[in-house]
Amino acid sequence: MPPYKEQGIVLRSIKLGEADKIVSILTQGSGKVRGVAKGIRKTTSRFGGRLEPFTHVNLMLYRGRGALDTITQAEIIAPHRNIRDDLSLFAAGETMLEAVDKVSEEHERNVRLALLLLSGFRALDAKPADPAAVTESFLLKLLSLSGFHPALTACAVCGSRDVRLWSAGLGGAVCPACADHDAAAVSPDVLALLAHLATTELSHAGLVLEVDERTRRRSRSLLFGFVEYHLERRMKSVPMLVRTAL
Ligand SMILES: [Zn+2]
Repeated sequence: MPPYKEQGIVLRSIKLGEADKIVSILTQGSGKVRGVAKGIRKTTSRFGGRLEPFTHVNLMLYRGRGALDTITQAEIIAPHRNIRDDLSLFAAGETMLEAVDKVSEEHERNVRLALLLLSGFRALDAKPADPAAVTESFLLKLLSLSGFHPALTACAVCGSRDVRLWSAGLGGAVCPACADHDAAAVSPDVLALLAHLATTELSHAGLVLEVDERTRRRSRSLLFGFVEYHLERRMKSVPMLVRTAL
């Protein structure tokens, strides 16, 4: 098999044997790829710190027979180092990584997902005032990309503008007539905040917002509940983000 080139973002890595690591990378052309980086844990490794999480890299790989490829070269396009140096940026970035790791498929091309993650990390690396808001905006965009955009301005079921309740199972905001037993009251302020975060550019999402803390917490909790419901698996870094953001 000939080698192939890719560019992508390092999601995570796990130790393998004495000196190697398996590195999981979201690439632009080949979806999620898992590759062995041989000798990466030796001090003399030619990989150095090039395959750390959050790093945007150019790669040379060999396709393996099984699930694992072999990474032979890596060079950094952008290290996004600020994300690793600050706890609130790190927590925000981890939540993005975790969510993308869940929704991406191995060797299934998804350019929009790779570009979304890159925009997310660029926005965090610029040290926004409110990193958690960048992640919330990112999650709303990820939901849309995955086909689960929540209804925010009209009832998810009938399209009525009289949206006063929220139901993750029904698809977001709902009117009183369509609400199910699980639906909870939601204020216009909360829906407006979510709609703002859904549409704003990631590079602007981290500006300090003129909203009260109660609205902020409520919108975050509805969003995380919605993400959990629709991505169907608990995201273990969400509690960490909530802790550092509050
Ligand atoms: Zn309705």
